[in-house]
Amino acid sequence: DARIAGISSAIRVIPDFPKSGIMFQDITTLLLDTKAFKDTIDLFVERYKDKNISVVAGIEARGFIFGPPIALAIGAKFVPMRKPKKLPGEVISEEYSLEYGTDKMEMHVGAVEAGERALVVDDLIATGGTLNAAIRLLERVEVEVVECACVIELPELKGRERLGDKPLFVLVN
Ligand code: 5GP
Repeated sequence: DARIAGISSAIRVIPDFPKSGIMFQDITTLLLDTKAFKDTIDLFVERYKDKNISVVAGIEARGFIFGPPIALAIGAKFVPMRKPKKLPGEVISEEYSLEYGTDKMEMHVGAVEAGERALVVDDLIATGGTLNAAIRLLERVEVEVVECACVIELPELKGRERLGDKPLFVLVN
């Protein structure tokens, strides 16, 4: 797709952020490019509009940028998957491991119902630990995760392998 090249070149790479040795993929420059940003959303919408998806689960923080416009366009609801202690209502949570230590992801109880079909959205997959936690959280409440969608994949980190049999769709790697 000719749109992919424009999306790819709108992503800025910042070396040594947030620490030495990391090549940070900065999607804020993609948001400044009105065509590339729209193309990003359109590509996801084209893929998911007829897939009977009832919920888009967006991962904090950058899944909150790409998830809602996709949800609106495909007629699905949006559910935020948040860092601990951010959601005010009753939550269920899943722990996941980081490079150093662990983190938690939380979702409101009652945001989704058993049997719903979900798309999980984030900006980037690295090790896959974050998406894996989101999948576990949704499956605990008997939601079917149809697919995970990211703008960027870092394939050398093999995050895809941590998603088990869940399909992953990415625009750029
Ligand atoms: P993983 O759990 O797959 O190792 O890491 C993915 C999570 O870390 C995503 O939520 C993503 O937003 C964030 N992340 C890790 N590296 C980068 C990066 O280079 N750029 C951006 N934008 N996010 C990153």
